[in-house]
Amino acid sequence: MTAATVDVLLPLGLDVPYSYLVPDGLELAPGDLVAVPLGSRLVVGCVWPRGAEAPAPVDTSKLKAVRKKLDHRPLPPDLLQLIDWMADYTLAPRGMVLRMALRHEENPSPARERVGVRATGHVPERLTAARKRLIEVMADGFVRAKTDAAREAGVSPSVVDGLVDEGALETLVLPPAPAAETPDPDHAAPTLSEPQAQAANAIIAAVQAKAFSVHLLDGVTGSGKTEVYFEAVAEAVREGRQALILLPEIALTQAFIDRFTRRFGVAPAEWHSGVSTRRRGRILRGVADGDVQVVAGARSALFLPFQDLALTIVDEEHDPAYKQEDGVTYHARDMAVVRSRFCRSPIVLTSATPSIETEVNARRGRYNRLSLPLRFGGAKVPGLSPIDLRKDMPPRGRWIAPRLQSEIAQTLEDGGQALLFLNRRGYAPLTLCRSCGHRMRCPSCSAWLVEHRFRRRLSCHHCGYQAPVPECCPACGAKDAMIPCGPGVERLQEEVQALFPEARSLVLSSDIGGIERMRAELEAVANGEVDVVVGTQLVAKGHNFPGLALVGVVDADVGLGHGDPRAAERTFQLVHQVAGRAGRGATEGRGFIQTHMPDHPVMQALVKGDRAAFYETEIAAREEAHLPPFGRMASLIVSANEGPAAEAHARRLAASAPRVEGVRVLGPAEAPLAVLRGRHRWRLLVRAPRAFDLSAYLRGWRSVAPRPTGNTKVSIDVDPMTF
Ligand code: ADP
Ligand code: ZN
Repeated sequence: MTAATVDVLLPLGLDVPYSYLVPDGLELAPGDLVAVPLGSRLVVGCVWPRGAEAPAPVDTSKLKAVRKKLDHRPLPPDLLQLIDWMADYTLAPRGMVLRMALRHEENPSPARERVGVRATGHVPERLTAARKRLIEVMADGFVRAKTDAAREAGVSPSVVDGLVDEGALETLVLPPAPAAETPDPDHAAPTLSEPQAQAANAIIAAVQAKAFSVHLLDGVTGSGKTEVYFEAVAEAVREGRQALILLPEIALTQAFIDRFTRRFGVAPAEWHSGVSTRRRGRILRGVADGDVQVVAGARSALFLPFQDLALTIVDEEHDPAYKQEDGVTYHARDMAVVRSRFCRSPIVLTSATPSIETEVNARRGRYNRLSLPLRFGGAKVPGLSPIDLRKDMPPRGRWIAPRLQSEIAQTLEDGGQALLFLNRRGYAPLTLCRSCGHRMRCPSCSAWLVEHRFRRRLSCHHCGYQAPVPECCPACGAKDAMIPCGPGVERLQEEVQALFPEARSLVLSSDIGGIERMRAELEAVANGEVDVVVGTQLVAKGHNFPGLALVGVVDADVGLGHGDPRAAERTFQLVHQVAGRAGRGATEGRGFIQTHMPDHPVMQALVKGDRAAFYETEIAAREEAHLPPFGRMASLIVSANEGPAAEAHARRLAASAPRVEGVRVLGPAEAPLAVLRGRHRWRLLVRAPRAFDLSAYLRGWRSVAPRPTGNTKVSIDVDPMTF
């Protein structure tokens, strides 16, 4: 008789599962989590489904045995399918994809029981002030968790223990706190407008159909897209099923959490890096058990073990934050679509400015477009007026043109708020020596150091390197000669303060540090405690500032004309989104874009509010150049500690590319960021027709390619963001 074996995928850089013996009496099925020996360690892995063909005979006498099965629900089949699919598509080792689903399982501990206390009525002899406070708090007779009792009374937990010892309080065992409370689908349902109701009904019908479908909820900012998908989420909750809402930067969107809470009576379970590991562990269990019904999360929430996912929402689907660039490179929007297909459930992508990929899918009818053409309640999307920087020039060393200055003055006089948008963090993007022209650059990246005056440092935005601003030029030694060049948000705020000394101004950028602080500042803006906000792309996202009457885009040309084919799309989306922040309240909004290229098609489309024209031009340009989504693309980055080693390997790699009709390998050339963290980078781009199986081609190539030696590494990015 042959011993029973099982395949276990380990969350390591391995592509295939390992076989293990199954101890007598242990029942194992695909998706079960098990602890298995690996060398001298114990590793948690996942029992992997076997292919249809019989496993190759192995010498079972050499196999080690599964140590134990974890007390955990098995990973659902659609998640196993997703992991397989993603590994095939991205060429990442299967184990590394599994790792994203197991990352929070490293110490799977059951939710802890809590100790509760209740007053007995007995009053001890010795009464300190702390004991008195605690007895007063507990006098209502309610049971409280021990920690809650101590916190409410403002005493240390030892005071609680003391009163327990003296018989004034008795202890009880409380069940674990729920990971998230159950949303109430009927808590505060809005009355939808006619177009909203149509869109909502279409998605609700899709949830009820329990079939895969992709919907593009397409509407200007403020048209009520969130309210619409909340109705579909409510339907999933009513059916006792689960819903996932992906947001690009959930940690910052307190406004979203508040809205959800107003609509459903409770907050959603939040899933992102700002949530504590313990809490994430509990949410994960709740999701696996089906108790947590709605999760709002960042892209990693995609790998949660939903038991019955009825609906997925990808909010602001065009946002680049959905692309993960480190480790396993994947686009969370696209992978969410794949998972929905495996779950046989609908997915809704929302945007006011869909990505070109999504727009093309909608035009081809592969995605079902649901349009909300107008702002809810008739508020107007602000028109955008161009300010031609060639004619209306700001004074030297300043960035606000005279026209924009007088518009801001008018806005402030009328009691409105103004937002100035500049997508550059810090004080100045470049520091140079007035005397010899020396420029401060990062020692380990091909990038300029950015001055942060707030932190009094120069810093590299790619690797985090920091240095003080030098007093003397490091090249020529000139004293007090280092000068900032160009604007960052901190410098722009300085200009605002000089122009409008009475106005309260605030910089909003990711440098202000800490989610709590950021949430507080966003709230201060929403409450009208700030007159002029100076912000990076952080302010473009989903925030609702009712008093905002004017939006000024300080430099719309940043990003355009750098040879990056996605630059036009990105500029269009950002400016459109920033402009959409204004005029959401009672006041009508106005927008201004400062540009050196008022005739550029993107500027023209923005100024005329002609979204269709933008998509026509951009889609035609992509099609003409066979760029995605009209062709497929992958980027291969060869990196090494020494430039010549990276280049040499990139050339050998290019020479080994299998020749296939229609597939072109471009390069090698220095990567756009030629040196990063001390690693020299060369890039190859692979272009193929749309229907071509690019992943299979890359796998074939990898099997014949020369192995990188020494510290040389090759990383593959299928569907890269920059090409
Ligand atoms: P979007 O998600 O498209 O940017 P929102 O859903 O944020 O739009 O809606 C914009 C504003 O209009 C919000 O303040 C929202 O509360 C309000 N709103 C939208 N739909 C309704 C409705 N049916 N009833 C009441 N208020 C609504
Ligand atoms: Zn650097």
